[in-house]
Amino acid sequence: MSEHLRETHRRRTFAIVSHPDAGKTTLTEKLLLFGGAIQMAGSVKGRKAARHATSDWMALEKERGISVTSSVMQFPYEGHIVNLLDTPGHADFGEDTYRVLTAVDSALMVIDVAKGVEERTIKLMEVCRLRDTPIMGFINKLDREGKEPIELLDEIESVLGIQCAPITWPIGMGQRLRGVVHLVSGEVHLYEQGRNFTRQDSTIFPSIDAPGLAERIGEQMLADLRDELELVQGASHPFNKDDYLAGKQAPVFFGSAVNNFGVQPLLDFFVEHAPGPQPRATTSREIAPEEETFSGFVFKIQANMDPQHRDRVAFLRVCSGKYEAGMKSFHVRLGKEVKLANALTFMASDREIVETAYPGDVIGLHNHGTISIGDTFSAGESLAFTGIPNFAPELFRRARLRDPLKLKQLQKGLAQLSEEGATQFFRPLMSNDLILGAVGTLQFDVVAYRLKDEYSVDASFEPITISTARWVKGGTPKKLEEFREKNAMNLGLDAAGQLVYLAPSRVNLQLTMERWPELEFAATREHA
Ligand code: GDP
Repeated sequence: MSEHLRETHRRRTFAIVSHPDAGKTTLTEKLLLFGGAIQMAGSVKGRKAARHATSDWMALEKERGISVTSSVMQFPYEGHIVNLLDTPGHADFGEDTYRVLTAVDSALMVIDVAKGVEERTIKLMEVCRLRDTPIMGFINKLDREGKEPIELLDEIESVLGIQCAPITWPIGMGQRLRGVVHLVSGEVHLYEQGRNFTRQDSTIFPSIDAPGLAERIGEQMLADLRDELELVQGASHPFNKDDYLAGKQAPVFFGSAVNNFGVQPLLDFFVEHAPGPQPRATTSREIAPEEETFSGFVFKIQANMDPQHRDRVAFLRVCSGKYEAGMKSFHVRLGKEVKLANALTFMASDREIVETAYPGDVIGLHNHGTISIGDTFSAGESLAFTGIPNFAPELFRRARLRDPLKLKQLQKGLAQLSEEGATQFFRPLMSNDLILGAVGTLQFDVVAYRLKDEYSVDASFEPITISTARWVKGGTPKKLEEFREKNAMNLGLDAAGQLVYLAPSRVNLQLTMERWPELEFAATREHA
C-alpha cells in the first residue's frame, strides 16, 4: 500500500455533539488522555480558563456560560490518527456547528443518562441525518441515577429516529454502578473509582461467567445482570456495520466521562469501525481521498486564536492529496496560485507548524482577509466543494455608530467579523445603512463587544423592519436588471457582493416570489 493510502485510511475525523452540560468537554479531555495528547485530564478546562483570562471578549462568553469557540484536536491512538472537531453548544451558534459537521466523517453524541435526548441533540442529529453521517452514542453520568437504559434506547430510537445497537451495557447505576458488559467481546469492565487520570480504565474479566466476578459485583447483581442481558438481546438490534456506516444505526456505549469509565471501550470501537476520510462532492465531480493531488475546503474562520496577535485562522479540511509546508495551491475563488506556508495543526494544549497533512486532517491557514468560509483549494483544477451553506439570517439590526468618523473602522470590523460566519453583513443598494443579520440575538451582543474591543468602535444595534433575506439569482440578465430596478428599495449586497432581497415581511417575500417566478430566491447561499 502506498504511503498516501496508509496515511489516509488510518485517519478518523469526527465531532462530538451534545446538549450543553451533557459532558462533551469532559469526554474530550478523557479521549485526549487516551491519545497521550495530555498528561493529565483537566487541560481542556485549564486551557479554556487561560483563554478566558487573556481575551476580553471571551469573558463575555464565560459570563453567559457559553462556549463560542470550537477547536480542532489531533491525537494518535492505536495506529490511528484521530481528528476531533469541537462544536459550540449554544443554540445561537448552530450554523457554525452545521459547517463543522460538513468537515467530519462521523459524529459522537453525548447524552446525559438522567436527561435523555435533549433539544440541542435533536437539532444536531437532524443535521447529521441530512448528510447520513454515521453516529455513535455515549450515555454519560452513569455514576448518577438516571433513566433505565432500555428506556433511553427507546427514547433515542423514537425521538431521533435511529436504530440503537448497544455495544456496552451498564451493570447498575448511580451508587450501585459496578461496571459495563461489552456485548460484542463479552468482557466485563469493572467500575473502580480513582482511576480517572490513568489510561487503564478498569479491571477486565473475560466474560460474565469468569470466576471471581460474582465476588466483585455480588451474586444478586450478577443474577439480575444475566436476566437483563437476555432481555436486551431480545429487545435490541445487534451491531451491523453497514447500517452504522449508512447512518441508520447508532452503536451506543454507557459510562461516566468524569470517572473515565467506559471511555476506552468507546474509543477502541470507534477507531476500529468509524469511517475513514470519505469522498466529497464538488460542483464538477466527486473527490476521493485516495487521489494524490491536493484539495480541501475551508469550513470555519476563527479570530483571536492567539489573543496577542489578533490573528484569524481559516480551518481547512484536507479532502485529497497531501499538504506539504510551503507548497503552492490554487485558490479557486480568487483564480490564483497561493503559497501555503506556516499552516498550523492543533494539539490539545498547543498549536504548531504542520509539515504534512493528509485527507481527514484539518490545518489552520493564516488569513489576512483573502480566505472565506467555503473556499476551495486545489492543485489547479477549477472545482468547488459543495454543501457548505450560509443560512439566511432571521434577525436583523442596523448598526448605529456613536462617532461618525469611525465609519471605515466599523465597515472593516463588520466585514471581518462576518467572515467568521456567525453573522452576515449587508449593504442596502439605496442607503448607507450597515445591516447585520444573525440567527440568534446573542450574536449582536458579541459583535458589539468585539467591535469595541478589537476595532475601538463604539456601535450599537437597533431594530429594523427586515424579516428575512433571500439570495436572488437565475433568470435572464434582462429580467434580473428589471427586478433590480423595481425592487431597489428592498435589495442589498452581502459581504461577497451577491444580490440579496431583504424582505420587510414574510408576506412581502411571498408576493415578490409570486411576481417574479423566473427568479430563484434562495434561503442559503452556497459558498464558492
Ligand atoms: P459540556 O457542556 O457538554 O461540555 O459538559 P461538561 O463536560 O462541561 O460537563 C458538564 C458538567 O457535568 C460538569 O460539571 C462535569 O464535571 C459534569 N460531568 C461530566 N461527566 C460526568 C459524569 O460522568 N458524571 C457526573 N456525575 N458528572 C459529570
